Amino acid sequence: MSLNTKYDVLIIGGGLAGLCNAIELSKAGLNVILVEKKSYPFHKVCGEYVSMEVAGYVKSLGFDPFEHGAKAMKRFQLSSIKGSSVFVDLPLGGFSISRYQFDLALYEIAQESGTTFVLEDEAQKVEHLEQGYEVSTKKGKSYQAELVIGAQGKRSIIDKNMKRAFFKEQTGYSGIKCHYEGDFPEDLVALHNFKGGYCGLSQVETGHVNVCYLVKTSKIKEFGGIDKMEKELLSQNPHLHPVFHQWKPVFEKKLAISQVYFKQKTIVEDGILMSGDAAGMIYPLAGNGMAMAIHAAKILSSLIKSYFKGDIDIKTLEQEYERSWKNHFSSRVNMGRLFQRFFGSPLVSSTAVGGMRLLPFLRKPVIKMTHGKPV
Ligand SMILES: Cc1cc2nc3c(=O)[nH]c(=O)nc-3n(C[C@H](O)[C@H](O)[C@H](O)COP(=O)(O)OP(=O)(O)OC[C@H]3O[C@@H](n4cnc5c(N)ncnc54)[C@H](O)[C@@H]3O)c2cc1C
Repeated sequence: MSLNTKYDVLIIGGGLAGLCNAIELSKAGLNVILVEKKSYPFHKVCGEYVSMEVAGYVKSLGFDPFEHGAKAMKRFQLSSIKGSSVFVDLPLGGFSISRYQFDLALYEIAQESGTTFVLEDEAQKVEHLEQGYEVSTKKGKSYQAELVIGAQGKRSIIDKNMKRAFFKEQTGYSGIKCHYEGDFPEDLVALHNFKGGYCGLSQVETGHVNVCYLVKTSKIKEFGGIDKMEKELLSQNPHLHPVFHQWKPVFEKKLAISQVYFKQKTIVEDGILMSGDAAGMIYPLAGNGMAMAIHAAKILSSLIKSYFKGDIDIKTLEQEYERSWKNHFSSRVNMGRLFQRFFGSPLVSSTAVGGMRLLPFLRKPVIKMTHGKPV
């Protein structure tokens, strides 16, 4: 296929949202191209706990997490800054698998399904043509397609160049992640508060423990760097002390991202159909962004298939996608925003843990509010 071929769909970004869209649409016989700025496999800042609600759906795409060694998550532990904690059985459960493995496996399925990949190049600009769009890249290539899906994740050069409103806002939050060798139960996902943030732990398919946290960026500066902050601030929570004083990091370098943004974004902008975090993100670790990204891709790809079959026009596709996205995810995102207030503050986190200990009947409903039903 020549570089000037007009594709049916061009997807910007090959994370979970981009890859699920690619698999669905390629399997439906559409001519799909995906531009991803990195090459697989690679690690990503992510808590790596996936709600079970999407397990059946990813299986239908050809990916069984447990065949790839995912650990089944059955219990959740929440601790306050001082370390008092509560355990809850997860109503639906989840699985834990590294993004290194998850994204790689979906990439291989998308390739087998016929998606054309452009790797190690970055989509920078999207221009409207008389019919369709032209996307140009950092390496000077350009590709034409009838529809464009923006699955570029939380924050990307493409958002900047499109002048998306959220890009200018300073969020003040950073995400840090590393895998460790350490002693941690196989079926547990834990969320430990510390002053200015919260940290998630779960074992992944390698047997290593993923340790990923969200922190006010000002804390990194205040403590003079990530390592010092982990030893002096995060370790004040007794559950995190052994992690940063005894456990052995597996990565050469910890992964870090800044400007993590949680407010509502536009779902369709300039005709580009946003998918995954590019459309909106739930507070990490308080909810399940990956399940949302995967579920939203299912909704979008189903509408795109109807569009190419001639069942709906482009306006209906856009309107129906926005309506459906809000219908499925808005209340969950708002609930995540509310729960976010419980995290990272000494008083509020201990009240939340104390409340859940005193009122055990509240535990499962609280978890359910940020999770969805099986897709
Ligand atoms: C600290 C933290 C912890 C989290 N923990 C959890 C958790 O435990 N469970 C959970 O369910 N969710 C969690 N999330 C949320 C979850 O990571 C996201 O919701 C999920 O990754 C969204 O997938 P996506 O495909 O939209 O984006 P991504 O996975 O970020 O994929 C976007 C892709 O686009 C590529 N890209 C970006 N710009 C361009 C460009 N211009 N051209 C080409 N490629 C581009 C990137 O390289 C990337 O591969 C967490 C998030 C954070 C920040």
